[in-house]
Amino acid sequence: MSDDCIFCKIAAGTIPSGQVYSDDQYYAFRDIHPLAPTHVLVIPRKHLRAVTDAREDDKDLLGGMLLKANEIAAQEGLAENGFRLVINCGPWGGQVVGHLHLHILGGRKLGDELG
Ligand code: AMP
Repeated sequence: MSDDCIFCKIAAGTIPSGQVYSDDQYYAFRDIHPLAPTHVLVIPRKHLRAVTDAREDDKDLLGGMLLKANEIAAQEGLAENGFRLVINCGPWGGQVVGHLHLHILGGRKLGDELG
C-alpha cells in the first residue's frame, strides 16, 4: 500500500469505486471514463508502479491477474464475442496512474487503434 496512490486507496475502500471483484490479492472496478460498454480495471493490491516494476517473485501475481481478468470477462458476458486486455506502461505507453492495472475492454467491436 502506497499512501499517495489513488488505486491503493480504491482497493482499500477509502475512495469509492464501482467494485466488480475483490479478494486478498486483487481488486477490480469500473473505469470512471469507460472507453467501451464494459471497461473494468484489475489491479493487484500489492503496489507496483508499473509492469516493469515486477520481479521474479511477482510471477504468480502477474499470472493470477490474467486468469482473474479471464474470469471477470466471462462474468461480464464478454467471453463469447471476445474482449481486449491492455496494460499501459510509462508515459509513452499512455500510463497515467502509477499503480499496475489491467484494462478489460469489451461489449462492442473494438477497432485497430491501440491508444
Ligand atoms: P492508464 O491510462 O492505463 O493509466 O489508465 C488509468 C485509468 O484509470 C483511466 O482509464 C482512468 O479513466 C481510470 N481512472 C482514474 N481514476 C479513476 C477512478 N477514481 N475510478 C475509476 N477509474 C479511474
